Amino acid sequence: MSPDDSVERIIAMRVEDLPIPPVPSRVDSCSTCGAPVWVSLRSPTGVEVVCTRCVPPEVASSVGIAPQTREELLDLGLSEEQIEDALQAARKALLRKRR
Ligand SMILES: [Zn+2]
Repeated sequence: MSPDDSVERIIAMRVEDLPIPPVPSRVDSCSTCGAPVWVSLRSPTGVEVVCTRCVPPEVASSVGIAPQTREELLDLGLSEEQIEDALQAARKALLRKRR
C-alpha cells in the first residue's frame, strides 16, 4: 500500500459495539444499514462510512489504514508493528464474519 492510496470509504465501529471511542470522534451513520458509528475527528472527510458489519466481502482483504488514522494510532502509543498486526487481525475478522 502506498501512502497516497486514495480513501474511498472508511470502516467505523458501531456505537453499540464500542460505547466509548478511543479517540475524539463524532457520531455518523453507516451508509448501508444506518447504524450510528464513531468517526474520528481526524478521519478523511467526504468519504463513505460503513460499519464493521457492512464491509463488502470483496474489500475485507484489502482494507488499509488512512494516513490520518495511522498518525492517530501512533499518537495513542502504538508502534508501526502493532498497527500492522491490528490491521491483519481486522482483515481476518472481517473475512471471518462472512462465513
Ligand atoms: Zn452498517
